[in-house]
This record gives sequence, C-alpha cells and structure tokens, in this order.
Amino acid sequence: MTEHRDDVARGVALTVRLRLVSTNSGRPRAGCAVSLWHCGGHRARGRQTVDPAGWVSFGSAFPGAQAGCWPHVHFAVHDGGDSDGLLHAAQLALPGDACAKAYCAAERRRLDGMSIARDGCFAGGWALEIPSVTGDATRGLVATRTVGV
Ligand SMILES: [Zn+2]
Repeated sequence: MTEHRDDVARGVALTVRLRLVSTNSGRPRAGCAVSLWHCGGHRARGRQTVDPAGWVSFGSAFPGAQAGCWPHVHFAVHDGGDSDGLLHAAQLALPGDACAKAYCAAERRRLDGMSIARDGCFAGGWALEIPSVTGDATRGLVATRTVGV
C-alpha cells in the first residue's frame, strides 16, 4: 500500500456508524472492539466496544481526495477477549455522491478519472465496504454500514 497524506475535506465532519452482526446467526456482535483510522494512522484513530445492539459510532472527519486513492477510512474488528484476535479488517469507501457533497470544486476534480473499482489502494486482500451516507457538508455526513463478521 502506498503511503499518502490524510488531509481532510474542508474539515467536514463524518460520523461513521457500524453495526456488527454475526454472519452465522445475524445477531449483534456485542463485546467485540472496533478501531477506525484514516490513512497515515495518526488522525481520528479510535477504538470502541460494540454495544448490545451491535453498534459503534465514531466522530471523525471526511477523508481527503489523495492522488490515486479513492476516499476511504480503515477499520478493524477484534474479538475483545484476552487474545483480542483480529476478526475482520476492511476499508470503508465513501460513495461518489457523498464525496461530491463534502468536497470543494478542486477536490471534486481530483476524483474525476478515479474509480473505486480501479483503486490500487483496495488491492491486496482488503475487504471493501461501501456505506450508505446521509447528511450534508454543513451539518456533517453520517456513514452507516452493517458488517458481518
Ligand atoms: Zn488507506
């Protein structure tokens, strides 16, 4: 994976809400732990324990449009037990219409010619999750996704 900057889109707020469910039973994976971070690793990093209904919610910032990388954040799911084993690691790719809301014209132009499908950042075995996104740049955007682990 290439190293790239984790500059953010005009400081637009992004709330990431993930619901962790068992792929076997469909029930909430309460007690698991989820960490979320932007590329570069040092900004907006956080770790939360999944609540009884399966949810975690991270207050973050909309990721910037770096050259060659579709806007995304990383997350990992650990079992939260003594060994804290890794259950799932993925990249959450923001849909294009959400990026259009978050970005200024110059940033939108950087997205032209990029596509999630061709993005080299998603090669290498990372699962790719695409959330549904509501809200706007003024109030902040909210990305929601159910993740089976
Ligand atoms: Zn990345």
